[in-house]
Amino acid sequence: MECKSHSHGPLRHHGHSWPDTYEDKDLLKEQDVVPLVEDYSTFDIVKATQYGLLERCQELVEAGYDVRQPDKENVTLLHWAAINNRLDLVKFFISKGAVVDQLGGDLNSTPLHWAIRQGHLSMVILLLKLGADSTLIDGEGYSSLHLAVLFQHMPIIAYLIAKGQSVDTTDRNGQTPLMLSSHKVIGLEPTKFLLKFNPSIKAVDNIEKNTALHWAITAENVNAIDVLLEVGSSLDIKNAKGYRPLDLAHQTKNRLIIHLLSEEERTRARRTSRFLRVVEKNEFLLLIVSSLVLIWTIGYVVDLNSDSWLLKGSLLLFLSAILSVFARLFIGYNKLKYFPVAFMLGSLFWISWTCFIYFLPDFPTTISQLPFFFGIVGLFYYFYKTVRVDPGYIKSTEEEIKKNIINLAETGSLDFRTFCTSCLVKKPLRSFHCHSCNSCVARYDQHCIWVGQCIGVGNHSYFLLFLIFLTIVNIWAIYGTILYWSEHCTTTYQQDGAWTSFTQIVSCSPWVLYIFTIVCFHTSWATLLLVLQLYQIIFLGLTSHERITLWKQNKRSKHPVSLRKTPYNHGCLQNIADFFQCRCFGMFKPNIIDWTKQYTLRFHSLKEWNTV
Ligand SMILES: [Zn+2]
Ligand SMILES: [Zn+2]
Repeated sequence: MECKSHSHGPLRHHGHSWPDTYEDKDLLKEQDVVPLVEDYSTFDIVKATQYGLLERCQELVEAGYDVRQPDKENVTLLHWAAINNRLDLVKFFISKGAVVDQLGGDLNSTPLHWAIRQGHLSMVILLLKLGADSTLIDGEGYSSLHLAVLFQHMPIIAYLIAKGQSVDTTDRNGQTPLMLSSHKVIGLEPTKFLLKFNPSIKAVDNIEKNTALHWAITAENVNAIDVLLEVGSSLDIKNAKGYRPLDLAHQTKNRLIIHLLSEEERTRARRTSRFLRVVEKNEFLLLIVSSLVLIWTIGYVVDLNSDSWLLKGSLLLFLSAILSVFARLFIGYNKLKYFPVAFMLGSLFWISWTCFIYFLPDFPTTISQLPFFFGIVGLFYYFYKTVRVDPGYIKSTEEEIKKNIINLAETGSLDFRTFCTSCLVKKPLRSFHCHSCNSCVARYDQHCIWVGQCIGVGNHSYFLLFLIFLTIVNIWAIYGTILYWSEHCTTTYQQDGAWTSFTQIVSCSPWVLYIFTIVCFHTSWATLLLVLQLYQIIFLGLTSHERITLWKQNKRSKHPVSLRKTPYNHGCLQNIADFFQCRCFGMFKPNIIDWTKQYTLRFHSLKEWNTV
């Protein structure tokens, strides 16, 4: 009837990722109960410790048992209490003279080492409070931090570092935790997690003189190699045998690893060329210029004074081939995510140009021309504001992060649901971690590809105004096109039928038709987005992210919740006032909430909020 975890020493298997570990070991500890059928009064002190029977232990200690006495496997009571997360017993044994850093067991470890192997964060906190030394090394040569990395207990890694354990602490062979995780932990998580604490990527161990990158290659740990290259690990450091990382990669004969390293070496070599450095610095500008040229060239080819669409088609194919070569040569892969922004800006330029040259002369009065000028100015102004204003990135200094981790861990709330393991900050309410921006964003709405920026509490209103002006310009351009066709193309739909009037329009000005297609494309997404945004903001008081999450939850749940019944919906007028933070000459009282620091729903009654 004896449960394995009560009687065995530290397990040697690797632990789970953060969420599992946290829930398994600490949240569920209430279920870890004493068997009902057995008679505790016959338990010896080791068994009583394993089951957490404080009274029985007190009884035996009162009767003269020496708490420092190790059992025949050289394990002390404190070890058993630590591995089974018996906090009361640890306090009791220490009060009776147990030595907190007592070495014991096969691996010559301290109780702290045992608690770490099991992932008991609360026990680690207690033992450190009671004076345990986290720098001690066990029989295998590992320090506490190394063990936490090896068993992938992220909250413990965070806590140990926050408590002042150096992230570059070395084991018996001079290996840092980063080298260990690159070498022994195949999952991406601990390596990525350690890198957030700025460990040395140049450090080498005492024996092989390998860097973390060397170790990752030796273990063919592709995940680790990838992140280590990303943070700029050196490709030139030679190990004790004189091998550089690429030499080691060739020895593994792993094609993917060889490709990763040689590709990185090529990229870095390119940076030595002055010309290519300038290009890299101005990649975004280059992207916009190329999209301007591209849109114009396509229009030019389409507009060519030739009836042969075969010729035009081949020219377009040729053009796309040149363009893809150009993009590969000069524009980095990571900048290609800005392609939609560049395309939008480029096309907006040509739309405005077409409006000026082709459409404006057809508008008789200045008043009918006004919406266009008004729209263009507003559009570019609010685009600029959306991109330049901080959307609400949650920032923290290293000191604040460490203080925060200690605070959360010691109050038992270092919980992955409210703690961002990428930014190492407690997530404010309504915030979300954006992977493109690699930051948590306050009152997150979405990462919009058309502006290449996150939309959060800081720039959401500018984004909405940008969409409004974009729609105005688009609608004006559509109206202008129709007017142009009726003035300049000698055909009408009523007279000639659909097909003839279409061919007439094409031959009348292919350029105008081409720009019209682009305008229609922009109109479709911008209008859809605008309608959705207005609906969410005015009628729901929600962000896009919240609406989608709730909608998904409702699809799974047996008790769907109305999207309108959330604590963020205060009625249409109040929602608008809150969104724009406008008082309208004292007519409204907007709720002033700093969403970068709001962690609870305490600002509002919770009665309506019943999503679960
Ligand atoms: Zn984050
Ligand atoms: Zn983002």
